[in-house]
Amino acid sequence: MDRTAWLNGSFVLLAEAKVSAQDRGFLFADGIYEFTAVLDGKLVDSDAHLARFERSAAGLGLRLPVSSGEIAAIQRELIARNSLDQGGIYFQLTGGPAERDFLAPSTEPTLFMFTQAADVLERPAAKAGIAVKTIADPRWARRDIKSIMLLGQVMAKREAAAAGAQEAWLVDDEGFVTEGASSSALIVAADGTLVTRPNSRAILPGCTRKAVLAIAERDGVKVEERLFSVAEALAAREAILTSASNFVLPIVRIDGHPIGDGTPGPIARRLRELYIEAARTSA
Ligand code: PLP
Repeated sequence: MDRTAWLNGSFVLLAEAKVSAQDRGFLFADGIYEFTAVLDGKLVDSDAHLARFERSAAGLGLRLPVSSGEIAAIQRELIARNSLDQGGIYFQLTGGPAERDFLAPSTEPTLFMFTQAADVLERPAAKAGIAVKTIADPRWARRDIKSIMLLGQVMAKREAAAAGAQEAWLVDDEGFVTEGASSSALIVAADGTLVTRPNSRAILPGCTRKAVLAIAERDGVKVEERLFSVAEALAAREAILTSASNFVLPIVRIDGHPIGDGTPGPIARRLRELYIEAARTSA
């Protein structure tokens, strides 16, 4: 069955959705996006993703053609029309069609949303853990804006995949980890503290990261937002990634070195369970 998507005010078949070849998203990567997970047919952390969507739009001076509340209503309708139980919704806003001119105003923004089915609960990677490869962060200086300009991430993920890793951890010029190519990066330090880089222009303020840090604190885990280096990550008890598409995943190898005893650690496992439980009981 072909999926139903939503484009500029109408529900359309995804395979038939069309945008202008002059769209500023296509010509300049002048656009932003979000991905919100769907669990039991319900949106997960929807308010946080919508707030970040608005914030990213403001960062690029893009006008949202409909309100956040309307976006959420369209998303619920997409879930129903596609009978989506588990997976997520991708949504994207671009500058829309205009003459190719750096300074052309964005008068008719393009807003596009579609669903993706995926088994978000039963991830083999949650049981086995994943490997990451560290790579010099190749991206621009405004990583807090969730821009569709993802070439740095694509290149980093390709390099990681070629080395047999499932995610890239990006590293700044001083040797500190910024974040994953499409995830937030956390470690459990030798003293049991959950450590992650503080939000700034250097990283995307992860919605799952925020929820997981709050859950960890409530569960009695000490949380510290500070820089950590690759060397510290290699010596950590545990390494963890968070993202809307993967929730919480244990990292068991970094650059081929085992983390802890090389198997998923107890804090990663517990935070994954608690995050899923919270997502299922809220909304
Ligand atoms: N950092 C980057 C660069 C990402 O692309 C993502 C998600 O796509 C994240 C972090 C995690 O953010 P969230 O938990 O809001 O999905």
